[in-house]
Order: sequence, then structure tokens, then C-alpha cells
Amino acid sequence: MKNNNYPGGAIPCLDKGFIRLVDSMGGDDAIVQAARVSYGKGTTKVSRDKGLIRYLLRHRHSTPFEMVELKFHAKMPIFVARQWVRHRTANINEYSLRYSEARDDFYIPNKEDIHFQSQFNKQGRDDTDVPDEMKDKVIQYFTEMSKKSFDIYRELNDAGIARELARSILPVNLYTEWYWKNDLHNTLHFLKLRMDPHAQYEIRVFAEGMAQFVKQVAPIAYEAFEDYGLNGMYLSDIEKGILSKNIPQHIAGEIHEDIVFRIIAGMNKNKPRSEKELYSLYQKNNGKDSREDFGIKWNAGGIETANVFELQEFKAKFEEVFLR
Ligand SMILES: Cc1cc2nc3c(=O)[nH]c(=O)nc-3n(C[C@H](O)[C@H](O)[C@H](O)COP(=O)(O)OP(=O)(O)OC[C@H]3O[C@@H](n4cnc5c(N)ncnc54)[C@H](O)[C@@H]3O)c2cc1C
Repeated sequence: MKNNNYPGGAIPCLDKGFIRLVDSMGGDDAIVQAARVSYGKGTTKVSRDKGLIRYLLRHRHSTPFEMVELKFHAKMPIFVARQWVRHRTANINEYSLRYSEARDDFYIPNKEDIHFQSQFNKQGRDDTDVPDEMKDKVIQYFTEMSKKSFDIYRELNDAGIARELARSILPVNLYTEWYWKNDLHNTLHFLKLRMDPHAQYEIRVFAEGMAQFVKQVAPIAYEAFEDYGLNGMYLSDIEKGILSKNIPQHIAGEIHEDIVFRIIAGMNKNKPRSEKELYSLYQKNNGKDSREDFGIKWNAGGIETANVFELQEFKAKFEEVFLR
């Protein structure tokens, strides 16, 4: 088996694969520019742009994200490519084994990536340790089969058998290569599905590599994607029902108070106000403490702030579920 020479800027993935960004068009600025066509001209201050991008992503107003294009060059085992190609919105151009000879490049898993079949997840691996002898055997079989199939392939090729037929003797751990171009919206969708712990390890590695480049091209959009897409969570109606039934009213009340305090602290950070104005804002936001209690808590400090608009949206959702 050969060693690799990775092309410039590539992130190595698995034992012989890689992903690299070949080209891109636009970034955070292109998202803002497109959004302002629908929302009208506004200030171009970075903080406003950030707020706008986060708003768009949070509300799944996705077309501005389609204005950014990313073109990747990746080399991955065929079984990874089979999962990857299911993402239908991309433009792909793959290395042709009808036209060119296959290369002696096969994926052989690392010892630490060899696990037993999970008992709970039919599509996943278990955490329990596989004995070392078993791991050695897995690697030996992968290596033997790869070599045997490649020897036969080469023999058929040398005998003049058509490459398009001879290639079908090769196993799916053979590496292939492609150019993959997609817009940012659909690339983030790909990352959401393929960086998830439920995705197969071998494709996750490529998705994580791809994410590094996306972060460089559109850092604000990527951060928003991390907050709302990758690490955020949606609740179903059943899940909301269970929570609202089982979270005691006094706890729900405390959470609500926390949200209100953070809103007031955020507003005060943006534009400092007198204590009288603060309490009035607090009441307008459905704060329930007396003026005295409000003052004690406020003066104790340590209230975390966040985007006021986003917190207000959260408060409305929270009130709908818990304080109806
Ligand atoms: C953990 C995991 C396990 C999986 N297991 C299996 C499996 O066992 N078997 C299997 O076959 N697949 C499996 N898949 C693949 C999965 O079903 C999807 O095909 C794949 O994730 C692509 O998702 P997508 O269609 O949303 O993406 P894309 O094809 O990129 O499409 C993006 C979005 O565009 C829209 N869209 C695109 N094309 C169409 C269309 N023709 N009609 C309507 N809307 C469209 C949809 O809204 C879609 O969500 C698995 C995927 C994951 C992540």
C-alpha cells in the first residue's frame, strides 16, 4: 500500500484520505448582502450583521445562505462516498474507474476504530473493548482482501479486460476522489447530519474536516449554526407536554425570572438606564418580583447577558409551554 502526498491545504482524514477547500464564493458578507435585499438597507456594523445572520439561521430563512458556494476536493473510501452522495443538492465530479486505472489505495481501519456491533443501535458501534488479537485479525483481513482484489484487478487489466468491468472486483474500502460543490445552506445541512454522533465514524471525520473550512469562509454563520443547528435542540409536542406536566410551577417561575433578568441586563448593557427605568422594563417583561426584591437581586450582580431579541423569543416560547 502506498503512502500519501496530500495536496496543499488538505486536512488528512482516515489513513489515506483528505479534504481540502478548492474554491469558495462569498462569506458572511454575501449572506447579509442577500438578506438586505429582502429586509432593506440598514447599518453594516459587524454586530448588526452578526445579529442578522443569527436571526436568519434561527428562523430558517435559508436562501441568503445559498448565496455562498464552497468547492471541496476529497478523497474517501467508496463506502463513505456512497453515504456522502445521498446529499443530492451538491454538484459532483468523481475520479472515473472506466477511464483511469484504479490505484492501490485501500482504507485499513486503525486499531482504535475497531469496535463490536452495538447492541442498542443497529447502525452503530459499541464502546466495549475488542481483544487485541481480534483487532489484528480485522486488520489482516482488510489488508489481505485489498491486496488480493487489487492483484486480480491488475491481472485483468494487464490482460486487456475493459476497466469498467474489471473495477467491479474491487471492494468498497477502495479510495475514490471527487470535487464536491454545494451552497452553504446545504453544506450546513450535510454537516448537521454527518457530524452527528449517529453518523458513521468514517464519514464524520470528513464532515469535521469540512467544518474547519466552512468556519474560515463564513465564521459568523458557522458560529450560529453551532448554536442553533449543531448543538441546539428542537422539542416535539410530546416532549413539550412531558416537560410542562412535570416541571413544578415554582421551578418554571424561577427559570422565567432568570430569563427576564437576563433580558433586562442585556438591555442595560446596550443602553444603561436608571434603577426606576430598569424596574419598569422588568415589569413590562412580566417580571414578578417586588421592586425591593428586584433591587436586591439586581445589586447582587452576576447576571449573564445574551442577545436581547433572542432571549425575548425564548421567553415567549417558555411562557407558551410553561405558564399558560
Ligand atoms: C445517521 C444516518 C443514517 C442513515 N441511514 C440510512 C439508511 O439506512 N438507508 C438509506 O437509504 N439512507 C440512510 N441515510 C441517508 C438519509 O436518508 C438521507 O438520504 C441523507 O441523509 C440525505 O439527507 P437529505 O435528503 O436531507 O439531504 P439532501 O439530498 O442534501 O437534500 C437536502 C434537502 O433538500 C430537499 N430535497 C432534496 N432532494 C429532494 C427531493 N427529490 N424531493 C424532496 N425534497 C428534496 C429535502 O428537504 C432535503 O432535506 C442515513 C443518513 C444518516 C445521517
